[in-house]
Amino acid sequence: MKGKICKGIAGFYYVHDGHSRIYECKAKGIFRNQKIKPLPGDNVEFTVLSEAESEGSITAIHPRKNQLIRPAVSNVDQALVVFALTSPEPNFNLLDRFLISMEQQNLPTVICFNKQDLDSGAKEQECRERYRGSGNTVVFASVQQEEGMESIRELLRGRTSVLAGPSGVGKSSLMNHLQPEAAMETGAISEKIQRGRHTTRHSELFYLEEDTFLMDTPGFTSLNITGIEAGDLHGYFPEFLPYEANCRFLDCVHVGERDCGVKKALEEGKICRGRYENYLQIYQELKDKKKY
Ligand code: GDP
Ligand code: ZN
Repeated sequence: MKGKICKGIAGFYYVHDGHSRIYECKAKGIFRNQKIKPLPGDNVEFTVLSEAESEGSITAIHPRKNQLIRPAVSNVDQALVVFALTSPEPNFNLLDRFLISMEQQNLPTVICFNKQDLDSGAKEQECRERYRGSGNTVVFASVQQEEGMESIRELLRGRTSVLAGPSGVGKSSLMNHLQPEAAMETGAISEKIQRGRHTTRHSELFYLEEDTFLMDTPGFTSLNITGIEAGDLHGYFPEFLPYEANCRFLDCVHVGERDCGVKKALEEGKICRGRYENYLQIYQELKDKKKY
């Protein structure tokens, strides 16, 4: 049978068959010889040892499309990052850093602005304009009022996504809302999984619907960008691109150069000032890092 590892605890791997069941599996000896450690997100082949006890044995791991370090998960298709329109106020600097770090890993990010019910419409407008040229899909929602849930479901459907965002924005509420009523963990499996849950926090992929998985990640409050040359940072701001042709210098990084098309577009209000300011700040950080 084929399935996907949802989590691993103490040598056991919980494999979802993609439809309705989780099997508690051991990975056969071959994996100990190879240097591959099964990860949540891995697509595997397994044999059922006991249908009644939902026990199985993993016989093969399919090649990984990608692998994230934190959280440890493989075969991720996209990130879903949640911020609140208000309460707490969105930290755009943090969001822009998050978008860069996902792009660095070639992961598309869907931005969800939650708590739409608390906004008069002004904040929504600001956010929409701010990320118009960023290359991200932006959705507005109110988990509490169940607004925008169908759009989110559609964006997640058929994919494996990681859910991220600062705390207090509604991630847990969203996760609870998206999960099927009675999670499929019944009987023996439920007991085993619960036991794991109360001890350590393990990365876990949650099954939402057919072939659709979502991994919750701990809320974050800061994000350090590394591994990008300052001179390459502008590539992470797609809205600059149309104006770069107007820069006098081919290697212009739009910081202090003369005749810069991007700065001109900024003055004309064609590029969001807040986004540009975050670009400058991160650019400077990357420069300084190199010095030390
Ligand atoms: P998390 O820390 O990101 O997991 O956020 P929670 O899901 O715990 O939500 C934080 C608080 O925001 C809770 O009091 C939720 O009831 C509330 N909340 C979540 N979604 C909404 C929403 O759409 N509108 C409003 N007004 N409150 C919400
Ligand atoms: Zn320029």
